[in-house]
Amino acid sequence: MKIAFIGLGNMGGGMAANLVKAGHEVRAFDLSDDALNAARDNGCATFASAAEACQDVDAVVSMLPNGAIVKAVYANDVIGKAPAGAVFLDCSTIDVATAREVAADAEAAGYAMVDAPVSGGIAAAEAGTLTFMVGGSEEAFKRAEPVLSALGKAVIHAGQAGNGQAAKICNNMLLGIHMIGTCEAFAMAQKLGLDPQTFYDISSVSSGQCWSMTSYCPVPGVGPTTPADNGYQGGFATGLMLKDLKLAMEAAQTAGVDPQMGQRARELYEAFDAAGNGARDFSAIITSLK
Ligand code: NAD
Repeated sequence: MKIAFIGLGNMGGGMAANLVKAGHEVRAFDLSDDALNAARDNGCATFASAAEACQDVDAVVSMLPNGAIVKAVYANDVIGKAPAGAVFLDCSTIDVATAREVAADAEAAGYAMVDAPVSGGIAAAEAGTLTFMVGGSEEAFKRAEPVLSALGKAVIHAGQAGNGQAAKICNNMLLGIHMIGTCEAFAMAQKLGLDPQTFYDISSVSSGQCWSMTSYCPVPGVGPTTPADNGYQGGFATGLMLKDLKLAMEAAQTAGVDPQMGQRARELYEAFDAAGNGARDFSAIITSLK
């Protein structure tokens, strides 16, 4: 397939390279010259604008920082510029309302579109092992699925447009909550005289077990190798966790619900981020609880 790829940053760079490896012809655009150079090294053709990259393609994939940018890029450079019949896949993490608006605009202009945010970080983007949660019509999903399969290990249809984003922020709200819970449990266990490894050995096979403990343990030297073993570098940045918790709280307000634990997780990550920890992995929040 001929695929335009817009947004070649930490995530998009690896994803575009994987589309090339899967045999697709990739037409890439980013505002950054460094990102364009790296994409060229990975076998992408590069263009001076998103509109040019979208010419003559079967699909457009975007991986951009936020909803305002996604809305502007699709309105100015994609809708009406890509050939009729192309399918659009926005893999960025953005608010549900904007995802639904952009999809409606695309559909009104005759295009199929899905929102397809990801679970998994930069390493998963490079390895092609992302999980995609996809919102859009059955028909749009069927057309997007072969593109996403080249980039991830799981592609799940979540229902109508915007539902991919809804799944993403609910999942990451839960992740923020159980990471803080895991950190509090380790900190308290230690204060009560338990060795962290011993607590891990018990809790990882007991009812407190969760992903933050057994796959992403926040204590260095305990459990599998994680960002905690690398000075909390790499992994999923605190700033991105805060972004997702803010999106979750915005969506909660729109839906008329009041998730108390999600709100508290947002407050704690906001304080941790404001203390200069935005670039550290989100499991580093354990250092503020000690
Ligand atoms: P990034 O900042 O590294 O990359 C974004 C890229 O978009 C940059 O290269 C930037 O130059 C480009 N860009 C910005 N405006 C543009 C425009 N108008 N036209 C073309 N290019 C433009 O961000 P990232 O870490 O790759 O994240 C991308 C998206 O993926 C975000 O929505 C983020 O929330 C989500 N996400 C990130 C991670 C992660 O671990 N980094 C994990 C899951 C989801």
